[in-house]
Amino acid sequence: MGIRTAEDLLDDFPHRYEDLRYPTPAAQLTTGESEQNAVGTILWLRERRTRNLAIVEAELEDDTGTFIATWFGRKYLIGALKKGMRLFVRGRVQRTHAGAKINVSTHRVLAEDETYHGEMVPVYSASKTLTSRKIHQVIQKNLPALLALAGEEPLPQAILERKKFPPLHEAYRSMHSPGTPQEAGKALERFIFTEFLALALAAQLKRAARTSERNAQALKAAPDLLAEFERELPFPLTNAQRRVVGEIWADMAQDAPMNRLLQGDVGSGKTLVAAAAILLAARNGVQSALMAPTEILAAQHAAKLAPLLLPFGIAVEAVFGSQSAKARAAAVGKLASGEAAVGVGTHALITENVEFARLGLAIIDEQHRFGVEQRAKLREKGVAPHTLHMTATPIPRTLAQSIYADLDASTIDELPPGRTPIETFTLRRSRLDEAYEFVRLNVERGHQAYIVAPAIDESESDLTSVLAEAERLQNDVFPDLRLGLLHGRMPAREKEEIMQRFGRNDVQVLVATTVVEVGVDVPNASVMVILDAQRYGLAQLHQLRGRVGRGAARSFCLLIAPEDASELERLTILNDCTDGFRIAEEDLRLRGPGEFAGKAQSGLADFRVADLVRDIAIYREAKAEAERLVASDPALKRPEHVGLRALIDGEPSARAMLLSS
Ligand code: ADP
Ligand code: MG
Repeated sequence: MGIRTAEDLLDDFPHRYEDLRYPTPAAQLTTGESEQNAVGTILWLRERRTRNLAIVEAELEDDTGTFIATWFGRKYLIGALKKGMRLFVRGRVQRTHAGAKINVSTHRVLAEDETYHGEMVPVYSASKTLTSRKIHQVIQKNLPALLALAGEEPLPQAILERKKFPPLHEAYRSMHSPGTPQEAGKALERFIFTEFLALALAAQLKRAARTSERNAQALKAAPDLLAEFERELPFPLTNAQRRVVGEIWADMAQDAPMNRLLQGDVGSGKTLVAAAAILLAARNGVQSALMAPTEILAAQHAAKLAPLLLPFGIAVEAVFGSQSAKARAAAVGKLASGEAAVGVGTHALITENVEFARLGLAIIDEQHRFGVEQRAKLREKGVAPHTLHMTATPIPRTLAQSIYADLDASTIDELPPGRTPIETFTLRRSRLDEAYEFVRLNVERGHQAYIVAPAIDESESDLTSVLAEAERLQNDVFPDLRLGLLHGRMPAREKEEIMQRFGRNDVQVLVATTVVEVGVDVPNASVMVILDAQRYGLAQLHQLRGRVGRGAARSFCLLIAPEDASELERLTILNDCTDGFRIAEEDLRLRGPGEFAGKAQSGLADFRVADLVRDIAIYREAKAEAERLVASDPALKRPEHVGLRALIDGEPSARAMLLSS
């Protein structure tokens, strides 16, 4: 069960307690789900037999009345129990007009003059062969020895006093052997708080280190730069875009490097904001780099940024893996000489032979798809460049305050005007034909469609594969339409070609895996069908459907799910809700934080006892303490803070925070 050492056993906390402290008076025993305790004297006892089960029945009496106790399959009790004995019994109760009946799961014979003293009994995660009762016994028997392994108190005395937390040893004792539910609750709160404090301290230390470095170049904006930028745009900025550009420019004007997250729903116009940041960098004579996770995305960024930056004389160079050696060498040369102000590319940007003359701004698109080292490598191409992380997956507030606490966040919470909301429907798999009929209808009106499936080929799983589905669609369903296929195992050049053909309506129906997830922008596409939609998180589905609804036409998303009702219910949240933040919160509640942490932040949401969603109020308290601690002792050097340093080293989430970027 993952318990290998005595320390592991000490840390194996019960997940709940059975409160056996007080017996319920006979007159008050009522029908209920949870077990109840009673104490009474046996009035009579008898055995009943059904076909193959022995049933022992007894009537027990206390000061308030009587009740019937029943034992199933424990015939031997007939010899052991006697009229006149006092018994403690525990079990589920059923009360009928005939009186209360208790189906006994536990009982104990009490001595005649013994007052009943029940206890809080911890319930541990158990297996068939290793029961909770056994774990409880072993821990109780060895508790003093186990407590001796608990280690030093990590929390300063001042915090223990302020929060009224029990000291470490007492807290461990209370977890395994509490006197009251309150005592157990306070001990658990202490352990949750401690775990959160480690993470919050790590975030705070990182932030303090970054803002005290002062080794970045301060990039100042001339007073009329925003007006100048807007004059060259085909449309006015949304209020949200204007506010966010202001936040980013204010950060870039500091000599401490910016570390900011730019989040905005698909289509909210993040590219423009990135262009504004690049413009400010270029005006200050430093270069920018924009790294995207796929070639499709990088190509699209380059294509969108170029016209936005052209009026300011800023040239964009692209660096891709699939480029010809000659084109690559030319681009790399211009970045190294400083002749090009912007490099846009994939991971190819962080290879050794790419150098920047003066990199001052690093932009990382879909930041959660990159690992820590990859993001660090991009920044190492410059000296403390300002960093902007972009994401189309809105991050729930809970997570922004916790696992992303070292980042400042800017949010574009407003879509450009003139967008038609996407109408979303959830259909059972048996209605797939209707969905495809609907696709045909839209294509015949001149629009285009995406059909998304989770797997590439059939060998992978029992999920729908794009290869098989594309073949079936071309042969049987849409023989007269122009279909295209897109998946991650295709060579980059082929992918690029398909996207271009889809872009000019040469391909009418694109059958694809989720490689179309981010950034792809074909305004004429108005329908998306997502097969095996149950496979995805709500936030990811929301992001996927953002590929349609980019033009003026009415747009639709059809989610196809198995007949299973619970899946349908989860998916229908998307039918009514278009607010990415609400969807993200819902996803967090249903699927936990792992999904949002992504590849880059794995480990950040690894808590032993804490739960970010359930315990967010405790997190906020821990964060406030962390801010106070780091403000008064920026490197945690004071003797009373030594324990805190050890605490940070010992918590996986805190270590991941220090490593993340
Ligand atoms: P994102 O990257 O956030 O998904 P984009 O930057 O690709 O969004 O912008 C989506 C579309 O909206 C683009 O076609 C862009 O030209 C357009 N757009 C962006 N900002 C505005 C605006 N303020 N007014 C009108 N259209 C805009
Ligand atoms: Mg984009």
